[in-house]
Parts: sequence; structure tokens; C-alpha cells
Amino acid sequence: MDHYRRSALNYYAANPIDRLTPKRRDETWLTEQLESPGTFFIPIWESKQLFTEGAVPGPVLLSLPEMGELLKTAETIIFLGRNHARTYFALDLPRDNSAFGDSLAKLGQFQDMKRFGALLPAPQAALLAYARAITHWHRRHRFCGDCGSPTVSVDAGHRRACSNALCGGQHFPRTDPAIITLVRSGERCLLGRQPVWPQGFFSAIAGFVEPGESLEDAVVREMLEETGIRVTEVHYHSSQPWPFPSSIMLGFTAVASDEGIRLMDDELEDARWFSRKDFEDRLEAGALRLPSSFSIAFRLIEDWYNDACSTPLRTFLDSIPGYQHLTLVRS
Ligand SMILES: [Zn+2]
Repeated sequence: MDHYRRSALNYYAANPIDRLTPKRRDETWLTEQLESPGTFFIPIWESKQLFTEGAVPGPVLLSLPEMGELLKTAETIIFLGRNHARTYFALDLPRDNSAFGDSLAKLGQFQDMKRFGALLPAPQAALLAYARAITHWHRRHRFCGDCGSPTVSVDAGHRRACSNALCGGQHFPRTDPAIITLVRSGERCLLGRQPVWPQGFFSAIAGFVEPGESLEDAVVREMLEETGIRVTEVHYHSSQPWPFPSSIMLGFTAVASDEGIRLMDDELEDARWFSRKDFEDRLEAGALRLPSSFSIAFRLIEDWYNDACSTPLRTFLDSIPGYQHLTLVRS
């Protein structure tokens, strides 16, 4: 399987939307879209999205007749793209919700999308992730990093320009790269846990890429800093948009040079090697819990497990009475 297809299996990836980048500066076309019955708006307030209430919540996307004064109220309107003859915009609503709170409350509640895990259909989740990430970027870049003047949204929300003509700073949406690595030694894999995680929860080792290092440098450094393990044979696995708040997770596998774990910083409170037998025994006993199945961490662990087991990991987990997939979000 090539990397494109492998990443497409990751939740929040493979967004089917056509971003239509050249249209971002076509004011006439954009105005037509804002007035079209085929346009839908994703309201976002405090990084939360509007969801219907009920057993299976669904996102509320507003059509033009449902918009009322929201277009005038929104602090930023971002053109996301088109899919199946529908145009999508994200609306970043102001913190003061007095102008719209009551009317939108009739349609649903603003909730953090991470609460619903993989309950949403994957294409819908990818669209919401895109909207969440770009509105978060606008919120954090209202002032120029060069001169401190206010910035304004341009290019349909895909750039912010400094309002100080003497500065002229241009700011583009950014994504923070973070690596996550499943390390093997023979048939065993290395998992660790942070002290704030729920009891029994273990995951692959992750960390942010620092300026001046390659992705592979970051894998080697993070593993050494967090576990004391030196790794070789670093291979890219796949990537996953992770809008909590603004990351892309870059999955890797690596091989340990030795198995001597030494927790070198305060990130992890425990790290240990798991054989498949130990892994299964602990899961069945309720002593081990894994990252949610919609995370790339789960995908990495799943590939390790499935490499040598005839029963896929998801089938094995489903066979354990009471096993529940966890939602865990790096923030
Ligand atoms: Zn400036």
C-alpha cells in the first residue's frame, strides 16, 4: 500500500472537498457563492461546532435561509471549497454570543468535535477538522507577529495581511508537525503513558518537531529524550490531520538498538515493552487501554499487532466484554 492510500485510512484525512485555490481571490465568484442556495455554512464558536442533540449527534450545517444575520455577525468567513455541487464556508463567530446564541440553540449545541470520536462519517469529520483548524489559526493571528498591528483576513480566509502599510506583513495558515512512533524490538513494541492519562492507558511515543530538524531527527530525539531508547531504521508510515488545536501527526516506525528503558524527562511516567501475549493478556484483564481507534496511534499499534496475528486487533478488542475505545487528545 502506498503512503497516499495508507494516510487516506486515517480519520480526518482524505477530505473529499475541492479547495479551488484559484477562486480564493475571485471576489465576484465568492459573492455569488455566498448568495447561492447550494452553499452551506459551518458555524464555529470558541473552536466548537454546532451538533444536533440525540443519541447520534450530527453536525449542523446552515443553508442560506437559516443564516439570518450570521454573515454580518461572523468575525471571519472562510471559503473551504466545494464537494458534490455544494460550496462550504466556515463562520468564526464572536465570543459574545448574545446576537446568535438563542437562535442557534434551537438547532443544536456547540460542542467540541473530539467528543464524538469516530461517530461522524469520515468525509464529514475531515470537513469539520479543516474548518476547526483554520478558524483556530485566525483566532491566534489577529495581530501581526512582526509589528503588533491588527491583521485582516484576505484571500477568502486563507491569508491575513498586516493593516500597517509600513509593515506589509503577510501571514499564512500554519500547521504544527508532530511525530508519533511505534518502536519495535523483535516481536515486542514499546508503549508509554503520561501521568495525566486514564489508568492503564498506553500509546505510541509522540512529540513536536523542533526548528532545524528533519522529521527523522525528531523521531530519534524524542525516543531518546522520553525513553532513553536509541532507534534506527526509521520509516514513515502515514499522516493524520489533528486539529486539536493545529497539528498534523506524522506516523513512523523504528527499531530499537537496545531495550534498556530510561525515562529521561518528565513527559512519561511509564514506558514498557509489550509482547503480543502480554499485550493481549493485559487488554483482556482490563489492565491496558489503547488510544481511540480514530487516532493514528491506534493505526500504528494495529499494524504491529496485525503483522503476526491472524485475528485483527479490532476483532480482538470487540471480543473483550466491556472494552471501550477511549478518546484522547493532545492539546
Ligand atoms: Zn505588521
